[in-house]
Amino acid sequence: MEREFSHLEKEVAAFQKATGMSCLTGCGHCCRFPDISATPLEFLPLAYHLFKTGQAEAWYERLASESETLCPLFTPLLGVGDKGFCKGYQHRGMICRLFGFSAMTDKSGKPRLANCKPLKEERPLVVAQAAAYVVSGGHAPLMRDYYFRLLAIDPRLAERLLPIREAIRQALAAVLAYYAFRRPRKSG
Ligand code: SF4
Repeated sequence: MEREFSHLEKEVAAFQKATGMSCLTGCGHCCRFPDISATPLEFLPLAYHLFKTGQAEAWYERLASESETLCPLFTPLLGVGDKGFCKGYQHRGMICRLFGFSAMTDKSGKPRLANCKPLKEERPLVVAQAAAYVVSGGHAPLMRDYYFRLLAIDPRLAERLLPIREAIRQALAAVLAYYAFRRPRKSG
């Protein structure tokens, strides 16, 4: 997963350079969606980090017992509209890295920019240019391709899109089960 993230990071950087697209400062709009879907696999790095820092069990219990729907990593800035931040930014999932900087395929299989509402409202020209760039064949990370790549890594942990909290909980369950009888490596 770390390798996939690093590959995606380079593609997103190239896309940003070609189009001028970037997130609005402090914007947490997409993290506030109550129905974000993700696979457990993309949250394995987060789960491993929580395991290494002795927080995995507590996080697992919390996610299993709460009825909350928001992403557990999102920390809203009280009284500042949509604003907020991700307290696990370094270990965020694939969907978090793709959204706003990737393309989806339309009914005829052609790539189309996956739109971000606040950006469209605040920087309509930049978004229109980025959309035109994608339509004209400019390279953008393709969501479908990245999710296919996850399937190739581990179909069991990547075959189903789940609500983000459940995806994180299952990633924690996988890491806790794996290390139940093993010691983690000292590095990594
Ligand atoms: S993991 Fe971080 S970036 Fe992804 S939805 Fe949650 S708060 Fe947002």
